[in-house]
Amino acid sequence: MRTWIRNVYLATTTLAAGMYVTLRYFVQSFRRGTFAGHFAYPERPVPVRPRYRGFHRFDLTTCIGCDKCARACPVDCIYIDKEKAPPPHKGFVVTGFKIDYTKCMFCALCVDPCPVDCIFMGSNHDISTYTRDGCIVDYAKLPLAVAWGQATLNPTTVQESKRVSLPVWTKTAEPAKPVADGKA
Ligand code: SF4
Ligand code: SF4
Repeated sequence: MRTWIRNVYLATTTLAAGMYVTLRYFVQSFRRGTFAGHFAYPERPVPVRPRYRGFHRFDLTTCIGCDKCARACPVDCIYIDKEKAPPPHKGFVVTGFKIDYTKCMFCALCVDPCPVDCIFMGSNHDISTYTRDGCIVDYAKLPLAVAWGQATLNPTTVQESKRVSLPVWTKTAEPAKPVADGKA
């Protein structure tokens, strides 16, 4: 009998605790309004913490093409295109600065080695994409204010601009296997 009463007590208190949590979140959600109304992305960007690591911020005008960030990257996902600067200038002109976000793990190891502080982890979501084809972002082709995180793009338009209608990979027909003589 004692065990039965104890089990009933446990079941009742557990159920009440669960219902209390549900009720608390229900009231909170009711007071706050709908999630979509509160975080109406992209019109109202979702707030992020100060040390959030999002898509990079990159300043093409300062980059000297030294490759230190690419060498520091543990997954080799930074591809830098550069040309020799025309005389009398020295060094390189960076013509492409691509980051492959299918490989990037947002570790920020590329940030510290930069001698001119032109690459940082940013906080925008605007270059998100729905396809793998759009995951390689060339910061040298973005407007500077966008690449440097001072201006924003319309994510829907970005996605549309990145949409590739061709298949990424197509299965090719396998060659026919030779039939051995004397076997069915
Ligand atoms: S955040 Fe990490 S993985 Fe991404 S590009 Fe930089 S070093 Fe590479
Ligand atoms: S380390 Fe800095 S300066 Fe060097 S290539 Fe990378 S972003 Fe450019």
